[in-house]
Amino acid sequence: MVPADLIRRPGPDRLGLTGGIGSGKSTVGSMLVALGATLVDTDAIARALTGPSGRAMDAVAEAFGHGLVGADGALDRARMREIVFSDPSAKRRLEAILHPMIGLEAMRQANEAAGVVVFDVPLMTESSHWRERCDRLVVVDCPTDTQVRRVMARSGWDETQVRSVIAQQATRERRRAMADAVIHNDGLSIDELRLQVERLWAHWFGHDSAL
Ligand code: ADP
Repeated sequence: MVPADLIRRPGPDRLGLTGGIGSGKSTVGSMLVALGATLVDTDAIARALTGPSGRAMDAVAEAFGHGLVGADGALDRARMREIVFSDPSAKRRLEAILHPMIGLEAMRQANEAAGVVVFDVPLMTESSHWRERCDRLVVVDCPTDTQVRRVMARSGWDETQVRSVIAQQATRERRRAMADAVIHNDGLSIDELRLQVERLWAHWFGHDSAL
């Protein structure tokens, strides 16, 4: 049974934020926070759950063995990646442990927040659960070549690596088809991007909105 305090409140104030790697999703997330939103970052929650003495670590060790737990008590990510790479069922088992815990923690954080909550979920369009938790979905979009350029500059990965990550993610078309608003983050300066985010915020949460 779902605990009473985790039952979703009604209201148009829960935004989903998603976008492919390098689209500018995190940048837009920070801009929404500057406007007063509370960001619920599911990647950060996943890292905390699998970090030193993270709450998922007992279940992970039970499912995959203690060899996957590093000396610091955190998940050995490099080892886990190898296992998941060679055994797709391991990925599903890991997700079966982590996803419900991430969902509960995200909703706990959201329910503690006042005002607009932004769920930053890279795999938003891959999960109907997430879509249902959000009143509106904002997609940050740009051409694939722009994603590749940004990620190479940020991480030092080579082009093949970046393109293979992009190929594993939802397509741009799929994301855009689910969006209530698309922010086209290409050929824009950071200030121009901020202006777009501010316009969207004013449109949805300005004085004349229903909120
Ligand atoms: P994501 O979270 O989608 O992977 P980020 O928000 O981290 O993407 O953006 C990727 C990189 O591109 C970052 O270094 C960010 O500063 C840069 N970036 C994003 N949008 C712009 C923009 N409009 N102008 C200049 N740099 C940008």
